[in-house]
Amino acid sequence: MSIGSLNAKLEAFFAQNSFDEPHLVIDLDQVEVNFNNLASALPNALIYFAVKANPASEILSRLKNLGSCFDAASIAEIKLCLSLGIPASQISFGNTIKKENAIAEAYKHGIQSYAFDSHEELLKIARSAPGSNVYCRVLVDCSGADWPLSHKFGCSPVMAKELLSQSVTLGLYPTGLSFHVGSQQTKISQWDNALGQIEKLYKDLKNEGIELSTLNLGGGFPTAYNADVPSISQYGEYLSSSLKKHFGDNVPKIIIEPGRSVVGDAGIIEAEVVLVSRKNTEDEKRWVYLDIGIFSGLAECLDEAIKYPITIVGKETDTNLGPVILAGPSCDSVDVLYEKFNYDLPLDLKPGDKIRIHATGAYTTTYSSIGFNGFPPLNSSCI
Ligand SMILES: *Cc1c(COP(=O)(O)O)cnc(C)c1O
Repeated sequence: MSIGSLNAKLEAFFAQNSFDEPHLVIDLDQVEVNFNNLASALPNALIYFAVKANPASEILSRLKNLGSCFDAASIAEIKLCLSLGIPASQISFGNTIKKENAIAEAYKHGIQSYAFDSHEELLKIARSAPGSNVYCRVLVDCSGADWPLSHKFGCSPVMAKELLSQSVTLGLYPTGLSFHVGSQQTKISQWDNALGQIEKLYKDLKNEGIELSTLNLGGGFPTAYNADVPSISQYGEYLSSSLKKHFGDNVPKIIIEPGRSVVGDAGIIEAEVVLVSRKNTEDEKRWVYLDIGIFSGLAECLDEAIKYPITIVGKETDTNLGPVILAGPSCDSVDVLYEKFNYDLPLDLKPGDKIRIHATGAYTTTYSSIGFNGFPPLNSSCI
């Protein structure tokens, strides 16, 4: 689907519905296409959808019907999945930072698989989810990612090895390692670097009698925003050959945890222009203030990390354009969306014009505040 030209279903929805406040519309069929593309690019991988990317019930139910498993970050996400009839055996508790009572509650609900990256967290799991499956998150290089998950998660491979052997002593079952190369990772070679760092761990632990059955490659698969990104099938081919290179005939069972790549391009936000102005009469660049900003769903515009394609309803996007600075409506100067990265919008743009922000299905509704300055949270419809 090329940017700006919507499919018939979305066209019909927008023709029949108008919104006073910014609204996200998710095309569930596109979610399905994205899931199936990932599944065919990595046919041997088990897919755990990262619930945090977009936890709309309709999305989770559609993915459940397609055979997806789910990676949850909190007890609330776990309960949401369970309430939709997703079996506990298909849900992992993938956050390495959990309250012990959340672990106990997840265990009570039958969750069997827990992530950790520290000795202290392992002790919590051993106490409150005895006999469970555990996997250790390893710290890897996230450079090249537009939204790096950086150094907050994971431990060194050496520490991972120690902790995984300790987990056995604690009565737990170590299943493998996980890593995340950073979200919107367009440098595919980062996976190869990570695999190069950890393959030896599998061999070393096997020599100690601990056979790790799985390897979790995390998320990071991209959504196509403005820049050209490699296709999901290219990621699949690259990862398959990298796994073969490092593990030969002993490739563990592969898990991936995609979030953005499943829902990103399935969503479009329709919002409104509130004000078009200049700071100086001679300024070429106009300031365009929208009714949506950093605090109402577009948090990934911080540092202009994610550059969403933007179109104006009913206007050409290739003629009579001029440069703009885009900003949100709140009384906080952080609430500027794009200033360095140049967007060109129609010269006759005016308050009340409807604007569409494309590929906004991931990390928008969940990132919107509940009412900063009295602006409402981002609502959504799944169609
Ligand atoms: C956020 C997250 C994901 C999803 O990452 P994407 O880049 O959106 O695919 C997967 N796994 C874990 C542990 C995460 O925290």
